[in-house]
Amino acid sequence: MDDITSFEQIIGSQNIITAEQDKIGYLEDWRGNFTGSAQAVLLPRSTEHVSQILAHADAQNQIIVTQGGNTGLVGGGIPDKSGNAFILSTARMNTVRDISEVNLSMTAEAGCILEQIHTITEAKNLYFPLNLAAKGSCTIGGNLATNAGGLNVVRYGTTRNLCLGIEVVLMGGRVMNLLTPLRKDNTGYDLKDLFIGSEGTLGIITAASLKLFPLPTVRSTALAGVRDIDAAVELLGALQKKSGEKVEAFEIMPGILLDIVSKQFPNIPMPLSPMPEFMVLMEIASTNDEDGQPDSEGAIPLTALMEQFLADNFETGLVTDAVIAQNETQRKQLWDIREHSPEATKQESWPVNTDISVTRADFAAFYKDATIEVKSVYPDARICGYGHLGDGNVHFNVLEREGGDPNWPEKREAVKHAIYNALSKVNGSISAEHGIGQMKVEQLKEVKDPVALEVMHQIKQSLDPKGLLNPGKILG
Ligand SMILES: Cc1cc2nc3c(=O)[nH]c(=O)nc-3n(C[C@H](O)[C@H](O)[C@H](O)COP(=O)(O)OP(=O)(O)OC[C@H]3O[C@@H](n4cnc5c(N)ncnc54)[C@H](O)[C@@H]3O)c2cc1C
Repeated sequence: MDDITSFEQIIGSQNIITAEQDKIGYLEDWRGNFTGSAQAVLLPRSTEHVSQILAHADAQNQIIVTQGGNTGLVGGGIPDKSGNAFILSTARMNTVRDISEVNLSMTAEAGCILEQIHTITEAKNLYFPLNLAAKGSCTIGGNLATNAGGLNVVRYGTTRNLCLGIEVVLMGGRVMNLLTPLRKDNTGYDLKDLFIGSEGTLGIITAASLKLFPLPTVRSTALAGVRDIDAAVELLGALQKKSGEKVEAFEIMPGILLDIVSKQFPNIPMPLSPMPEFMVLMEIASTNDEDGQPDSEGAIPLTALMEQFLADNFETGLVTDAVIAQNETQRKQLWDIREHSPEATKQESWPVNTDISVTRADFAAFYKDATIEVKSVYPDARICGYGHLGDGNVHFNVLEREGGDPNWPEKREAVKHAIYNALSKVNGSISAEHGIGQMKVEQLKEVKDPVALEVMHQIKQSLDPKGLLNPGKILG
């Protein structure tokens, strides 16, 4: 019996895609940087299905590449071009198994779309704070497998910090049940954390127990022009101090990025004119009803706090211009600018994309140094570093000169080298939140501690000795 027939017996022929035209969407990554080939796409509906698939794959030496929403940015979910692999998509494992308002936790299957989790929790006045622009397509399994970061890390941490437990299927088919809703569990090694961020190379996450929080009842969102990049960093510390634990998001965006968003998405309004060189998009939020209750003059305390903060820092010179969202529509318009940034830059160009993290103390120095380094090799570069300043995470992206450059494909390597040269001076990370995938395999070998790399290989060898789970990713 061939493998496709065997898989059909396990999950049913209606849950397998073999037609070439139907496989296309699974074979290229979101940026179009990586393409691959596969024998078929398997769409299991249960943990039992995944277990039987991995038992068969192990017995027959079949390669399995797991895929969630295929929004990853490092080619982690894309098989190689040989056509040997089977893609296992978790798309049909999308049930929320339970949700506890008392324990502030939920259990969701790996294929649940992040936005679906938001909708379900918010209907119960609960909050799952992981939030990224790909929320309409990415899955919680993919978020865990990449340890996704996103917009709210500054307050709630990465996906790892939001996970209480996981269910994972190992190569060979054993199901490891670590699906606890407990907040404390010191029973030996924390195996859950081994699989979070392992990008489908150690096992397949089939479900997760997630931490929930009370849903904020009031938010204040502002876009502020800042004097320079140092001022942006200073402003973050000042806002955290002023608002207590209320800073949910703090994003840096250069004016050049907003010009590109405006060009590619002319319907998104740009609130500040003239366009500052640097802006921060910041949001504070509270679950305390009093912060949202209008006072006798109709002022909402949380909004008043933001207004006062911006006014004070206009005086200090850190802020040069600002707008505060007055309602949900205006808030959405401000977030639209940030959330359309990846798509806008993709449409505008073929940028050199990075996903860098540095300490907050090094952030401004790194940004300036990387700018100088890039300009020294490519003076016309459009430097478009934006992202999660709250976490020291900048997508320091570089576009070719305005109007296009036929030599850009050859210039990209020098530009990349210049950025990573600046990064090495401050001991930053080459991957803050997107992972290694196939994009950064060689780079990882250069920057990771050799002993750590050796231990990673040993772990891979012990869990997947034949190298059938997502080969070529992370360790190569
Ligand atoms: C517009 C846009 C904005 C983005 N913004 C952010 C951001 O702010 N922060 C951020 O961190 N990322 C961001 N990303 C990247 C991406 O959305 C995240 O990496 C996301 O977590 C991937 O989820 P996914 O379901 O699409 O996973 P996929 O792309 O399908 O897979 C990603 C990796 O996880 C593995 N995998 C998937 N599911 C499982 C599973 N169940 N078990 C084991 N392995 C699995 C795959 O093999 C692959 O290696 C963005 C992407 C886009 C397109």
